[in-house]
This record gives sequence, C-alpha cells and structure tokens, in this order.
Amino acid sequence: MTSSVERQCGDCTLCCKVMAIETLAKPASLWCPHCSPGHGCAIYAGRPDECASFSCLWLVNDLLDQRWKPSRSKLVLTTSEDGLEIRCDPGFPNAWRKEPYATEIRAWAEEGERNDMTVVVTVGQRMILVTPDREFDLGIVGPNERIVRELEGTKVVGATVVKASEI
Ligand code: SF4
Ligand code: SF4
Repeated sequence: MTSSVERQCGDCTLCCKVMAIETLAKPASLWCPHCSPGHGCAIYAGRPDECASFSCLWLVNDLLDQRWKPSRSKLVLTTSEDGLEIRCDPGFPNAWRKEPYATEIRAWAEEGERNDMTVVVTVGQRMILVTPDREFDLGIVGPNERIVRELEGTKVVGATVVKASEI
C-alpha cells in the first residue's frame, strides 16, 4: 500500500487480502475488489486513508529479512497495543508453522511473555495466541471482543475471549 525509502512492496499485495478495510467494508481474508493480486491497487491515487497510511512491519523493519516479505512468507506482520499480530494468508493456513517462521514466532512469544506482550496469529477468522510452550486457539474473535490472559507470574496459563464491555 505504501513504501519505505529502503523497501518497496513490489509484487506484494497481501495486505489487500488479509487486512479488513473499514472504509470499504472489506472483510479480512478476502481480496479487495480494487486489488489486482501481485500487481497493485486500481484506485491507488484515491485509495482510502487507512490503506495509504498502512505499512506492514516487513516494509519498515530491516530486521525482517527477505524471507519475511509477505508475498514470500504469506504472513503480514503488524504491531498492536498488545504486541505483535501475524496475519496468515488463509490460502496458506500453515505458512506460520513453516521455518524459519515458526521458530522466530516462538522466540517472539518468549520475549513477549517476559515483557507482557502478546503474539497472536490470525488465520482467516481464527485467532491463535502463541506462548513459548503453548498455542491457545481462540476461534473467531469479533471486533468488540478482547483476549484475556490468565497469568502465573509472567507465564500465560490460560486465555479466554470476553466482550470488550465486560473488561
Ligand atoms: S503486505 Fe507489506 S509489503 Fe505487502 S503490499 Fe502490504 S505493505 Fe506492501
Ligand atoms: S483500496 Fe487499494 S490499497 Fe486499499 S485494500 Fe483495496 S486494493 Fe489495497
């Protein structure tokens, strides 16, 4: 959608599939009708602000090498208030379990547990909270729902989904 000086989206258009675009009422995991996959946006000059302002982490973070380019990894990484979000192309639902991705995701989960940050993988509508030694498959988490972790010290021992209004 946007490009850094150092990196360009090039042939990647994966965020136009995995991200929800509220302005267009485009749900996550379906191609935007304006996207020509692998080529770009047909309404680029007039695309919504939320598209124009978006950069995935690969685009802006040199620590993620070329293997993490979303068109290659099938994974779009972003940060959230709670930590790291990894959106997996639903056409390749096991992409995040392949290497080098799985090992790196687990390492981020270890770091996250020490620093009270979450690592969440999204595959289609399904969300999976990844911890150093477990995966919590949370199913479909709606926009008005939140993941609540049960902690023992810094260790995550449980996770549930609750309505945001109940927090
Ligand atoms: S996922 Fe990242 S690299 Fe791919 S098109 Fe979107 S911003 Fe560009
Ligand atoms: S409007 Fe353009 S940039 Fe935004 S999701 Fe659709 S194809 Fe991608």
